[in-house]
Amino acid sequence: MKYLIWLVVIVAGIWWIRQQRKAPAHQTRQKTDATGRSSESGPQVMTPCAHCGVHLPESEAIQGAQGVYCSEAHRQRQEG
Ligand SMILES: [Zn+2]
Repeated sequence: MKYLIWLVVIVAGIWWIRQQRKAPAHQTRQKTDATGRSSESGPQVMTPCAHCGVHLPESEAIQGAQGVYCSEAHRQRQEG
């Protein structure tokens, strides 16, 4: 019985290592997946934040009345 437990642990360990080796393929996915818009459809259009000027993908930008922003906080600071 003791050996059976070790067998399960070893098989689980091998399975886990194999899962880890497959994992790097998923790391190529970009953060923009969270927005629901696929980043693989084409090159990202970079747009500057109207408040701090940092460039970010258009799909991640927050749309405001006076332009686009890198975050909701910057939109509120700029537009009040
Ligand atoms: Zn900003």
